Amino acid sequence: MERECYLDNSATTRVFPEVAALMNKIYLEEYGNPSSMHHKGVEAERELRTARETLASILKCEPKNIYFTSCGTESDNISLIGGALANQRAGKHLITTKIEHPAILETMKYLESLGFEVTYLDVDENGLVTPKEVADAVRPDTILVSVMHTNNEIGSLEPITEIGAAIKEKNPNTLFHVDAVQGFGKARIVPKKQHIDFLSASGHKIHAAKGVGLLYVGDGVKVKPILFGGGQQGGLRSGTENVAGAAGMALAAKMIYDDFDSKIDKLYQMKEYFIEQVSSIEGVHVNGLHGLSVRQTAPHVISLSIEGVRAEVLLHALEEKGIYVSSGSACSSNRPHLSQTLLATGTPEQYLDSTIRISTGVMNTMDDMTYAADALKELLPFLRRYTRQ
Ligand code: PLP
Repeated sequence: MERECYLDNSATTRVFPEVAALMNKIYLEEYGNPSSMHHKGVEAERELRTARETLASILKCEPKNIYFTSCGTESDNISLIGGALANQRAGKHLITTKIEHPAILETMKYLESLGFEVTYLDVDENGLVTPKEVADAVRPDTILVSVMHTNNEIGSLEPITEIGAAIKEKNPNTLFHVDAVQGFGKARIVPKKQHIDFLSASGHKIHAAKGVGLLYVGDGVKVKPILFGGGQQGGLRSGTENVAGAAGMALAAKMIYDDFDSKIDKLYQMKEYFIEQVSSIEGVHVNGLHGLSVRQTAPHVISLSIEGVRAEVLLHALEEKGIYVSSGSACSSNRPHLSQTLLATGTPEQYLDSTIRISTGVMNTMDDMTYAADALKELLPFLRRYTRQ
């Protein structure tokens, strides 16, 4: 293989070497249970406390607002199920959008089975929902709204601050959950300023380990646990904390948010350049950019629909050149159903099966973009001939 060009960073990322080193130190030396009262426990508890403080300073909140979970999915589940169960006396209506990750959509289905009513909002061709559309759906019995920060398939950036303000204006008691699994580390997020009550993020999307997630819960927000046990983390999330995972996630976030603007600018430059390169290829359509500039979308997600080539065939042809991308969204690509995001954004039928996602990260270079764009230019005419036979 000529080289390795990993462009599937929205599926997961390579762990920063510094994060791996810190985790290794915790696994091998500071391996105590943070609830233990002896020295080893205190050592581990210190790592956990530092991690919480670091993440709290990034989100401009208090350490007590930060909980560690096992993944973004778990953070989403606690917010939705725990938020709904704790507030059901005020109503049983919930709102979300049609382009959420399955961690939200499947959880909403579960809540419907428990007797909650869920409104699924439509989005436009760029995957966007307006603050007015959200506010119009809010009723006196709406207890929670969940809108994602950044879409994982086409990179839509939802107007979170304005949506939060519109929800609170209509019904100050309605809680606002934001799935920021793709947005944390790619945007500055300040939950308090953005009217956010619950925020989910995930370690493995920001060059930390798989198996650790972050949940922000605002002051005074009522939420019930979904895991019961030893009462760790104030009883909201029982279970011995993943100390190495949490410490690694905090370090990764600190590294990303250091000199943040220039990192994001570089991602945008790579996206702009790549789109310019592939737009000249016949039959290649960029999704989520109708009438928007690249900088109005996520810096790291590029969705391409390609005429006459099946995504899976293209994915494997790119793999032959060491280029790793995803077909639609990796989280659902092992299931045969069609992408909810592509359906909800009105993607033409013939492209549903011919869409790939390229997702970059801070470890990618402009050279990677050239290599991948050149590979597409070279492969597409050949694959189309092959497909038509
Ligand atoms: N939400 C979004 C928007 C995602 O992209 C993902 C994963 O891709 C998740 C939630 C789930 O995160 P995790 O893999 O940490 O459970």
